[in-house]
Amino acid sequence: MTKTKKAKLTPPDPKRCQAEWRGGSFMTPGPRQMERCEDPPVVIVMEKTPGPDKQCGAMSLCPACLTKFLAMAQKAGRSADYEFTAVPAS
Ligand SMILES: [Zn+2]
Repeated sequence: MTKTKKAKLTPPDPKRCQAEWRGGSFMTPGPRQMERCEDPPVVIVMEKTPGPDKQCGAMSLCPACLTKFLAMAQKAGRSADYEFTAVPAS
């Protein structure tokens, strides 16, 4: 997989969840890799306000990753900063 340039935002992928989580557990020795989820997404999450890069990020999430995402957003006190759109059925 090649890294895309930071200048352009990755568009939300309606076919595959775009969440990336650190693989392994905290018991895994060595540096842990980011692993991309492979489930089909149900929702597209969009930032309501532009981030430091002045762009509103958007990503597709499956139900499991959405649950994790919401828990993280709530912890960070940012629950109100996101907008959710259902992925159109294909
Ligand atoms: Zn997922």
